[in-house]
Amino acid sequence: MMIDRDFRMLIGGELVPGAAQLAVENPATGETFAEAPDASPTDLDAAVAAARGAFAGWRDTPIETRRKAIIALADRLIEEVEPMKRLLTREQGKPHKDAAEEVLGAANWLKAAASLDIPVTVNEDSAERYSETRYVPLGVVAAIAPWNYPLILASFKLGPALLAGNCVILKPSPFTPLTALKLGELAADIFPAGVLNVISGGDAVGPWLTSHAGIDKVSFTGSTATGKKVMAAASDTLKRVTLELGGNDPAIIMHDVDAEAIAQQIFWAAFGNAGQICIASKRIYVHKDVYEALRDALVAYARTVKVGDGAEQGTQIGPVNNPQQYDRMRDLIRDARAQGYVFLTGGEAEEVPGHFIPVTIIDNPPEQSRIVQEEQFGPVLPLLMFDNYEEALARANACEYGLGASVWGADEDAAWALAERIESGNVWVNETRHLSPFASFAGHKQSGLGVENGEDGLLEYLLPKTLTRKRAGR
Ligand code: NAD
Repeated sequence: MMIDRDFRMLIGGELVPGAAQLAVENPATGETFAEAPDASPTDLDAAVAAARGAFAGWRDTPIETRRKAIIALADRLIEEVEPMKRLLTREQGKPHKDAAEEVLGAANWLKAAASLDIPVTVNEDSAERYSETRYVPLGVVAAIAPWNYPLILASFKLGPALLAGNCVILKPSPFTPLTALKLGELAADIFPAGVLNVISGGDAVGPWLTSHAGIDKVSFTGSTATGKKVMAAASDTLKRVTLELGGNDPAIIMHDVDAEAIAQQIFWAAFGNAGQICIASKRIYVHKDVYEALRDALVAYARTVKVGDGAEQGTQIGPVNNPQQYDRMRDLIRDARAQGYVFLTGGEAEEVPGHFIPVTIIDNPPEQSRIVQEEQFGPVLPLLMFDNYEEALARANACEYGLGASVWGADEDAAWALAERIESGNVWVNETRHLSPFASFAGHKQSGLGVENGEDGLLEYLLPKTLTRKRAGR
């Protein structure tokens, strides 16, 4: 097979190859199809120096010019949607249709961030004194992204960080570096040299970034375990951090739902992107009155869904992205099998090339089972029965995570009342996963620290600076 080596890092406005290379696999075949640069500490130092050097100029560039540059990058992404989509499917595994949506979603998110304004608060404007709080950029931001949505989650960070006047070093996951590197290529002649840098590499690069003294802030999306390491590393120079971490989202299905009508929505809430979504529904709590009806409708629908290579027409669910995640799914399945839980669909991973896990639904395993208590982040789902709403709420809230949740019911007010009592940063009623670039997205508990999106998200890339003047002669 031809190995595609046409990938460069963006450092100080130059597209540079790495001295070493990192193999990138297609999860649908398990074959290496590309190589990406594997950054060295010298590459990282060069990126940090370039970003620091560019900071004063970018900070002092009028915000209208910064807006235009971000919009220009979004427009390039839209122009390149076809090749970007194909590349995203090859490195990530998701179906072409979902990949195209991600590329366009990233463009949409960049444009939305570009439309925000940086607030100024007047604290006092009296005869004696004038005082205002402005928001000023931090300096150099490290943006660290995971492999499930490499482009859109990078765009969550790039838009507000750059609009705020910071310089950025984007580091994608070693499993999905290619679309981020292409994004860097698209940006190379849009931003002044050093304003946006993209470096790829292996497991060492993240820790180098988070401990580098030349970086002022880390915006990280990934697992809770890594997020804790990021926070620890950042403490040395008191870097600011935004952490968007794991989740174990409950969905509560009320007694009055039309089970047939919502089954497909519940299915995709759990199995979209092969379950590899931070805000996927990962525990489905179903009222006993509708348990059987929903179970049967979900299973019937699951049998119609095509799992396969995301590049093939008609594929609805692609492979799991990487060997570690594939092994983790198989381990959870083996554990459930060993415990004697009932599999409604799936179960055994097929022995085929690529990291394919069949759609797996487990029938009412115990609350303390691993598949309920752990974040699976893949296409293995527990369906759980409950008797009354207080019990459902207690089970939903007994969790170290608090990222997303949903409540489904015909009585919208009753569903809303339950939603108000769920301990989570995002709760949806009769839908799920609806995000807006203008709405705060934050994880509670161990799902994160800080906010992305909207004005709150923009403020994470700014420092408050209060200026106060005593008025003369008073
Ligand atoms: P991960 O934590 O393994 O890796 C995320 C990124 O951090 C990658 O770029 C990785 O190379 C880098 N990294 C790894 N070790 C590092 C270290 N010690 N210091 C700095 N960087 C390091 O996560 P993943 O497996 O890529 O992603 C899956 C996880 O991400 C799931 O838990 C999922 O819920 C979570 N996630 C959260 C959100 C959100 O917005 N809250 C969104 C998507 C995914």
